[in-house]
Amino acid sequence: MPRPILATVHAPALRHNLARARAAAPDTRVWAVVKANAYGHGIERVFDALRGADGFALLDLAEAERLRALDWRGPILLLEGCFEPRDLELCSRLNLWHAVHCEEQIDWLSRHKTQTPHRVFLKMNSGMNRLGFRPEAFRAAWTRLNALPQVDEISLMTHFSDADGLRMGADGIAHQVAAFVQATHDLPGERSLCNSAATLRHALSVRLGDEASAQALAADWVRPGIAVYGSAPDHPSHRAADWGLQPTLTLSSRLIGLQQVAQGESVGYGSTYVAAAPLHVGVVACGYADGYPRHAPGSTEHGAPVLVNGVRTRLVGRVSMDMLAVDLTPVEAAHGPCALGDEVVLWGRSARGTVLPIDEVAQAAGTLSYELMCAVAPRVPFAVDHGET
Ligand SMILES: *Cc1c(COP(=O)(O)O)cnc(C)c1O
Repeated sequence: MPRPILATVHAPALRHNLARARAAAPDTRVWAVVKANAYGHGIERVFDALRGADGFALLDLAEAERLRALDWRGPILLLEGCFEPRDLELCSRLNLWHAVHCEEQIDWLSRHKTQTPHRVFLKMNSGMNRLGFRPEAFRAAWTRLNALPQVDEISLMTHFSDADGLRMGADGIAHQVAAFVQATHDLPGERSLCNSAATLRHALSVRLGDEASAQALAADWVRPGIAVYGSAPDHPSHRAADWGLQPTLTLSSRLIGLQQVAQGESVGYGSTYVAAAPLHVGVVACGYADGYPRHAPGSTEHGAPVLVNGVRTRLVGRVSMDMLAVDLTPVEAAHGPCALGDEVVLWGRSARGTVLPIDEVAQAAGTLSYELMCAVAPRVPFAVDHGET
């Protein structure tokens, strides 16, 4: 028998979450962001559930090729554009739309030989200071692009640093929207501004006050990623369930060992957890080599949350490479003694219906759901659940 760890992708939840993103931005087309191998889920595993999107956005040209190999004929957007001139050949061949965020990418385009002009998304750095032209340089970049025979339609995009609204004292996105609107108000072309947080929190709310900002936010393409994968972009202000999102990824395993620990004894490497009272401990076939975060806390009575047989309990001791340990007290209080083979859910949905939000595990470990999803290790087998959620 293979080791019992398993990652399950929930196709109905992906469909549901995509519909939620659409409902949050009703008159807008939706890019399903599938970068990083669909946030660790696997592009081939999510494709069927997400093919109702208006397009797919990603970064990696090899991932774009995989989407075309799945026979996706619709739009694909390269969010970082090309990395070297010859990438443009693939864009021409596969009809990829691509971001243009720097002068060099315009130079490459100007020397590119193509039968079919490209659709490009000109990116503004409106305050994040990652990729894009600054507002004062944006128009010149647009004018340069617009003069190229290699370029067909030019769309305008930017990306927010604080759409989750969690930064103290920051106004979130208003200053970036204002910079974008001011620098682009008389430029033609479709707009794309919102990631998940902006889509859910801002696309419908007009608390920015002015009409131009509200319009720019609501136009023309939104780019939700994490929301499609069932996680709250602004956790812990909101939980995924508050946004009506369902978990799309379950990491599950089983108990492979049981220990009766006496008061004063420790559990695991470094003896970081010492039992204050006698404790029944379950040993789980999941460790950091599976992608579970090694820094998840287990040294206190407030260990990271885990489900055993659908009952919420906690990590005890350090996470090791292949195993971790959990307190079985609440589980046995609910259902009687545990046994080898009992179900453990590290995050996601238990066979008994209980949900452990990935956001809570991430928060306990001092990270984000994004990182946990992307970190599920290659040694973990995947399954796709096509059924009802
Ligand atoms: C990753 C990414 C997104 C999606 O972000 P989420 O927070 O996952 O919704 C949108 N736009 C760009 C440019 C990105 O890189």
